[in-house]
Amino acid sequence: MELPIPYSRQWIDEEDIEAVVSALRSDFLTTGPQVEAYEEAFAASCGARYAVAVSSGTAALHLACLAVGISPGSEAITSPITFVATANAPVYCGGTPVFADVCPDTVNIDPEQVQARITPRTRAILPVHFAGHACDMPVLRSIAERHGLTVIEDACHALGAETPEGGRAGDCRYSDLTVFSTHPVKTIATGEGGVITTNCPSLNDRLRRLRTHGITREIEHMTRHDGPWFYQMLELGYNYRITDIQCALGRSQLRRLSTFLARRREIATRYTTAFADLPQLQLPTERPGHRSAWHLYVIRLRGTDPTARRRLFERLRAVGLGVNVHYIPVYWHPFYRERFGYAVGLCPEAERYYREAVTLPLYPSMTDAQVDCVIQRVREAVMEVTSLLSDAPAAA
Ligand SMILES: *Cc1c(COP(=O)(O)O)cnc(C)c1O
Repeated sequence: MELPIPYSRQWIDEEDIEAVVSALRSDFLTTGPQVEAYEEAFAASCGARYAVAVSSGTAALHLACLAVGISPGSEAITSPITFVATANAPVYCGGTPVFADVCPDTVNIDPEQVQARITPRTRAILPVHFAGHACDMPVLRSIAERHGLTVIEDACHALGAETPEGGRAGDCRYSDLTVFSTHPVKTIATGEGGVITTNCPSLNDRLRRLRTHGITREIEHMTRHDGPWFYQMLELGYNYRITDIQCALGRSQLRRLSTFLARRREIATRYTTAFADLPQLQLPTERPGHRSAWHLYVIRLRGTDPTARRRLFERLRAVGLGVNVHYIPVYWHPFYRERFGYAVGLCPEAERYYREAVTLPLYPSMTDAQVDCVIQRVREAVMEVTSLLSDAPAAA
């Protein structure tokens, strides 16, 4: 068996390769028919009216924040347990990310904590569907409505997640915009890539414009029109376009989305069954009616010994498992401490989670033998680390 087993990786098959090769043989390398077809397929898979494909999940977050009007002086409330890109997006727009603590079961943003952090400057709520489990969107939506806020879902972990209301991540039933990433560790891969879904025609138009320098070619949006060559730049945008090559891969990957999700769910269930008798661990769960997309499977080593998680992590790395930690609380990073004055202690539940968490390998092309290997090595390592723990007082 190949070691180390990474925490995640893409699954590319011959059809994917064929799709990319035919894009290379076509007339378009960028912005062509593949982009449009990919956007259509993506919107349909989420149950949204529109999908706008861009160059990365980070670009998608940036454009989403611009499109809803985050600007200097405004605040966006988000989770501290996310990749830094979520919080960086409002900063790109001159805004301030405000961190609300997480729920102990899902590690998703806690609506009560969101409510407590709203100020007159709050412009948006940016919930993150951590590890693929959707946040409590109906409650977040009602808070947003009461305070006139927009909602941008960071669903970079959650393509394919299902909610109790019969919805899917990205359907934007309870949000204005939803953002996805198609980086190779995520549910589907395009190399780099991101998508924004929405049901709002004007946000759709604006995102398309911002993706390409703020330029429009639509006469009805122009202040003058000199002829067929004419275009106008209406606002400051970016080059956040995605290529036809990438979208050909994305379309091909989307066709296997349900296979990817089914295998991720199967592996998660096997882990949960295999570790159920280990009282040292807190395992990830799904709330009633939810189906996670299982981007990550995070175990938590219960207890107060601050060195135990590190010893577990190092032991697992030493036996060939590419375990990881998702994530360091965002506001702990020097940039956030220096720029916004955040300090350790801001979100106690998030910090408790951080001290205990280890992400196990989980990706759809994992073989049963690899899954068994992870199970066996994790069980051994947990026993070793925690028996050392109970020996410690005797040795002292
Ligand atoms: C991956 C990820 C991003 C960034 O996506 P990129 O495509 O890498 O730019 C943002 N938020 C979360 C939660 C992510 O996991």
